[in-house]
Amino acid sequence: MANLTVDFKIGKEDNRGIYYAETSRALIYLSMHETLADVYKTINHEVFHHCFEINGEADKMDEDQEEKVIFNMQWAEISL
Ligand SMILES: [Zn+2]
Repeated sequence: MANLTVDFKIGKEDNRGIYYAETSRALIYLSMHETLADVYKTINHEVFHHCFEINGEADKMDEDQEEKVIFNMQWAEISL
């Protein structure tokens, strides 16, 4: 079980963050956020991907399902 590494990047990207399961690494693109709260949301988002991966849950979901689960977890107060 690999520990998660989180790196912060500056520069324009299409994504706010990305998680690489093969290297247990998450990249957070700071320039794609407007507030610190948004940065925290993205960090949590990528950490959820890592948690699903190391617990074998990522194999049970396709990418779309995983994104929807994370969205609903993070926005439960308004999405459920
Ligand atoms: Zn995601």
